[in-house]
Amino acid sequence: MNEKTIVDPDQMPLVVAVDLGGTQVRVAVLRGSTLLSRVSEGTGADSTPDHLVPRIYDAIQEALDESCSELDQVTGIGIGVAGPLDSRTGIVFAAPNLSGWHNISLRDRFQERYRMPIFVENDANAAALGEYMFGAGRGCKDLVYLTISTGIGSGVIVNGQIVGGTSGTAGELGHMTVDWRWRGEPCNCGNIGCLESIASGTAIARNAQEAIGEERGRELLAFACALQQYTGEAGQPDPPVHNYMNHEHFARERDVEAPPISARTVWLAAQAGIPLAFSLIREAAEALGVGLVNIIHIFNPEMIILGGGVTQMGPLLLEPALQIVHDRAMQVPRRAVRIVQAQMDADAGLVGAGALVYHSLNVNGVFQREGMMVGAS
Ligand SMILES: [Zn+2]
Repeated sequence: MNEKTIVDPDQMPLVVAVDLGGTQVRVAVLRGSTLLSRVSEGTGADSTPDHLVPRIYDAIQEALDESCSELDQVTGIGIGVAGPLDSRTGIVFAAPNLSGWHNISLRDRFQERYRMPIFVENDANAAALGEYMFGAGRGCKDLVYLTISTGIGSGVIVNGQIVGGTSGTAGELGHMTVDWRWRGEPCNCGNIGCLESIASGTAIARNAQEAIGEERGRELLAFACALQQYTGEAGQPDPPVHNYMNHEHFARERDVEAPPISARTVWLAAQAGIPLAFSLIREAAEALGVGLVNIIHIFNPEMIILGGGVTQMGPLLLEPALQIVHDRAMQVPRRAVRIVQAQMDADAGLVGAGALVYHSLNVNGVFQREGMMVGAS
């Protein structure tokens, strides 16, 4: 029997969720995984804590007003931060793209203003908890969450708890070395050959950008030029770029500036049958497969949940990765693991931040005491 408590989301108390990213702050009032309101704004030119934190307070008030709720109806505030931090002390070690965020006692600042439990957690860890409580991971106690977008974030849940490590920074699976002979640029973390350096959207785009500077990238460049023409004004999401070689003159005429190529462009190019685009995605996919094998060997998880924009590439990315898992992972943990798509993707940060509060209530037995338990699934 699975002992995990599943709580009826409609009976859950209100929480406030804050998702603090490098360029955006999002705030929401939630009941369970349902967003009752949402406020989103840029971190702005002055993103120092003294300036940004009061703006978050204002955004919280705005989110409360929008959801027609009062602060005293809120049970707690969960804050997900894109950066290394210690969730036990609530100290944010650093926040990329935000100036002056070094060793900031974020929880204490919020605690001074709000008389309720405040939880601070790395955003990917929070998102892992969101999937665990409300998404693909319901009914499962050991899971690994990997979100692949511009970078690769991750969270590890073992026996129902986020694995934090001794300083709170455990579970940085995007920074596991998958190529120890890496000759490229070092990763942001200082290491070389990180999974993030090879399999993130930024890595796919970087490799594509390098290729279009060479003869082998001519076809991809022509495709990107054609795509830019189709999407340049109307911004149509999925233009039918089949006759892209008509645009080959763009590629030849070097006085026309080449458009920036995103991972999404590479994906569309692969769908249009451009071999280079296939091989660029395949390289990322194989690194991802190696990363998954390592995850399976280290954690023997019940589930690996894949989220983030790059996983929208679907079979093109996932099939080669899963083939490597099939070929290389040890049989017993391989047979035990389910590798699935995330369910909370669009609001992963906010649902995850809210889940920090709910998880603490669950761990402390509040849901059970108040008779909210509706049984295990
Ligand atoms: Zn790294």
